Amino acid sequence: MIFKNSSMYCERGNMLLTHTLFARLNARFIERVPEEPLLQRTQNPRNRFFCPACGQRLKFVGGYVQCPDGHGSINDSIFDLNQLCPHDRVND
Ligand SMILES: [Zn+2]
Repeated sequence: MIFKNSSMYCERGNMLLTHTLFARLNARFIERVPEEPLLQRTQNPRNRFFCPACGQRLKFVGGYVQCPDGHGSINDSIFDLNQLCPHDRVND
């Protein structure tokens, strides 16, 4: 995540983030604020997502879409990301 045009921006996903999403992802991935465990998912979402902290592609493991280096999971943000911040042009 980077600051661009006075908004937070996902560089790998070519995606602007809403303030709500940025606050959630920043607290979890950057500031590492402790929180309740997220609910597990039964299905891997179709879209590709990237870690807000390190930019690696997130992997679906044990019901969680999460960073392979343990920075966190976006399970509670996938709906918002798909609805509010579609990112179909991914920078590989
Ligand atoms: Zn990471």
